[in-house]
Amino acid sequence: MGFLTKLFGTNMAKEIKRIDPIVRKIEALEEEYKGLTDAQLQAKTAEFKERYQKGETLDDLLPEAFATCREAADRVLGLRPYRVQLIGGVILHQGRIAEMKTGEGKTLVATLPAYLNALSGEGVHIVTVNDYLAKRDSDWMGKVYRFLGLTVGLVIHGVDPVGKKAAYNADITYGTNNEFGFDYLRDNMAIYKAELMQRGHAFAIVDEVDSILIDEARTPLIISGMGEQSTQLYTLADNFAASLKGLVKATVDDKEEEADDIDADYVVNEKARAVTLTARGIAKAEKAFNVENLSDPENTTLSHHINQAIRARGLMKRDIDYVVKDGEVIIVDEFTGRLMYGRRYNDGLHQAIEAKEKVTVARESKTLATITFQNYFRLYRKLSGMTGTALTEEEEFNATYQLDIVEVPTNKPLIRVDHPDEVYKNTTGKYHAIVRQIAACHEKGQPVLAGTTSIEKSEVLSKLLTKQGIKHNVLNAKNHEKEAEIVAQAGKFGAVTVATNMAGRGTDIMLGGNAEFLAKNDLRKAGLSDEMIAEATGFAETDNEEILQARKMFSQAEAKHKEELAPEAEKVREAGGLFILGTERHESRRIDNQLRGRSGRQGDPGESRFYLSMEDDIMRLFGTERMQNMMETLKIDDDTPIDAKILSGAIENAQKKVESKNFQARKNTLEYDDVMNVQREVIYKQRRQVLDGENMGQFIRNMIHRWIDTSIHGHLGENKHLSAESYQLATEPFRGLFFPPDQFQYTDEDLAKQSPDALVEELDQAALAVYDAKEAALGDELMRELERVMMLRVVDEYWMDHIDAMEELKKGIQLRAYAQTNPVDAYKKEGFEMFEAMIQAIQEETIRRIILARVQTNEVRRERVAKVTGESGGSEEPQKKAPVRKSIKIGPNDPCPCGSGKKYKKCCYLKDKAAQ
Ligand code: ADP
Repeated sequence: MGFLTKLFGTNMAKEIKRIDPIVRKIEALEEEYKGLTDAQLQAKTAEFKERYQKGETLDDLLPEAFATCREAADRVLGLRPYRVQLIGGVILHQGRIAEMKTGEGKTLVATLPAYLNALSGEGVHIVTVNDYLAKRDSDWMGKVYRFLGLTVGLVIHGVDPVGKKAAYNADITYGTNNEFGFDYLRDNMAIYKAELMQRGHAFAIVDEVDSILIDEARTPLIISGMGEQSTQLYTLADNFAASLKGLVKATVDDKEEEADDIDADYVVNEKARAVTLTARGIAKAEKAFNVENLSDPENTTLSHHINQAIRARGLMKRDIDYVVKDGEVIIVDEFTGRLMYGRRYNDGLHQAIEAKEKVTVARESKTLATITFQNYFRLYRKLSGMTGTALTEEEEFNATYQLDIVEVPTNKPLIRVDHPDEVYKNTTGKYHAIVRQIAACHEKGQPVLAGTTSIEKSEVLSKLLTKQGIKHNVLNAKNHEKEAEIVAQAGKFGAVTVATNMAGRGTDIMLGGNAEFLAKNDLRKAGLSDEMIAEATGFAETDNEEILQARKMFSQAEAKHKEELAPEAEKVREAGGLFILGTERHESRRIDNQLRGRSGRQGDPGESRFYLSMEDDIMRLFGTERMQNMMETLKIDDDTPIDAKILSGAIENAQKKVESKNFQARKNTLEYDDVMNVQREVIYKQRRQVLDGENMGQFIRNMIHRWIDTSIHGHLGENKHLSAESYQLATEPFRGLFFPPDQFQYTDEDLAKQSPDALVEELDQAALAVYDAKEAALGDELMRELERVMMLRVVDEYWMDHIDAMEELKKGIQLRAYAQTNPVDAYKKEGFEMFEAMIQAIQEETIRRIILARVQTNEVRRERVAKVTGESGGSEEPQKKAPVRKSIKIGPNDPCPCGSGKKYKKCCYLKDKAAQ
């Protein structure tokens, strides 16, 4: 498809035309399907499944399946997918992105391809941005699937592994991007197959696809455990940084930084988002920490901590980049304004901010597993997505995900008026104009939604409005559900709502107000608990009387409000519909489009305008000199806007510049992750083979042979023979493992007579004899389990260390000065060598641990207990019939099988117990 797009440009009409015949086929079935009884309609699912099994393709089944799903949605939800929704559904089924504006009903669109693709028996994943939406959609749309005989699952934070497994086994699974990604990582840390939750990655439909595959894709998912390092140095470094003087500049050239006479200890380069110590700063650091030369290799850790401390103080701003809440530093997503709970800045920056904010500095964590969203979503055999705003990022979707975009026409014509930007000389002038505009709208009752780029700016605007006596609501993307309720009322007559860009995203703003949310409020006033209200407005199947009663109450209240709101909606329409007021241009045009798109849904009237000032970050950092000069020559006062038509090209270029910079940054991250990805795939694939219960016996015997063979051949001298000394070295790892330490002692003369292959053969035999003896003692079943468990444990341990090592390698390589080499290539090459070394180490350690493990069966234990206590082993049932469950038993005082060198009871014992 990428090829076609190139050929035809973004000629969307052509794409839509191509889909038209399919849509006609669906529509042609409409009357016939309307005449079917419920039972007849429901019987279609089994019929389609059978036809699929017999060789018909999903494409063959599409028209009938879509028609079935459409009819079912009408009967069950009272929503009959519009023609444009059918088009959107076809696009998703084709594994592409459907760009559909807000309010076009994307939630419903997803049911069509989900139903069709689920017929194959492989799970369909529907991915949303937050738990609230995943739950709402799975309950709501779930009614359609259940009616048609399919099962629906939900994977969100807090669902236990058993529940998750069931959810993944369902035909259609709703969940958040985080949860899908984390579950994949968790599955690849499982020790037993029964623990696996996911059953593959066949087809995914990603809602708000730009938000998930682009914005969120900037930070990888990380599962981390506790590391060892102390945290004190962060506090010391922060105290030091606090005593320094920083200089903030939009751009800094190198010479300036290096200048001796600069009156600052560090320089903040805003545009490059970099912070550097000046010569004076370095001297102060050396004195404060009593080191001779801060750039000596032995001071790397100190230097790193100081750098992060000045970064935390110079660049990271509270309430813009992060907030401090309940003693925790929480990242604010710069695009969405959403609080990113659980995510941490890496590389010690988060700790440095914690030290700066005087909250508890978390212990350095160790990465146990990690993946970028790019690489997670590329696992799907077919990927698709929907959003209101994708086209500006077409290149990235194409390059990273091989996804192309088709713009679906709106159901009703869009009549929103988008005014050109108004640009002011400075922030004060801009804010005056904004308040004037809001007051003017407010006066005639036209509702306004003012979008800001940060929590801080929302608060500034809120204060100004309060000063003017304009009543308003402020939203900061802190509570999705509550904010959804407030945003839903943003279309009421005279309402003024100030919100960070994405607060309450995904909620429909209806002119006049949203009856559903008003009805909810009534229920709350009537004393219903939040849980009951959730049930009352939810769609989960139930026969609970109380819930049914609450649902009745809700639908009556909703109907009442709908009726009352109708004239109010009319009033709002007359006042011009929802006015969207952008208080700044975002770095990305897409985010601006999202804000605009909240008005003018389904043919509603509306307006939008952005207010800018030459002091806005985007203008300051990325605007051209020409723009600045123009401001100077025009000599205009603060309150006069400049006609933005002259500037609009320049503004758009500034945005494009930032967009492409961000794209490059993501591409760069991805290039590095791709190296890791190849390795991750190898490890995960092998893990999976072990988990799948493949017999590892022969594999391990081969490993033993290879180990011995490599060791002997690796020690051969130039004459292709071993000296006594080198033989000793070559066999060192095997002594005490495969044979007693003093066996196979040879002189130089002995060895001169032996061929290396014969030596290998002799050692092989000894080693395999030990292995065979172990197997004979344990029995086949237990031996296989021992092999599996040991392999997985060792693989995980080494792999987790390797992840950290690769991270270090990456940092090191980025620091190195490269004349000709591409750093990614160097990373690839050195990373590969490290990986090879790790594989070798894993094999050797696995063999060592299997041979050294002391194993005891439950049977033996029971006999022992019986001998001591005279009991028959705890169970009252006769033991004969019940199969004896065997497991590996390592005594609490034995060395821990994880190889830590500690006693088992002091190491993994409790963890293993909990897992049992
Ligand atoms: P989007 O995600 O595209 O902004 P939603 O899925 O939130 O839109 O749907 C917006 C509203 O449109 C919902 O209230 C939904 O009930 C309604 N809706 C969607 N499809 C239809 C339809 N075919 N007929 C009537 N209402 C619809």
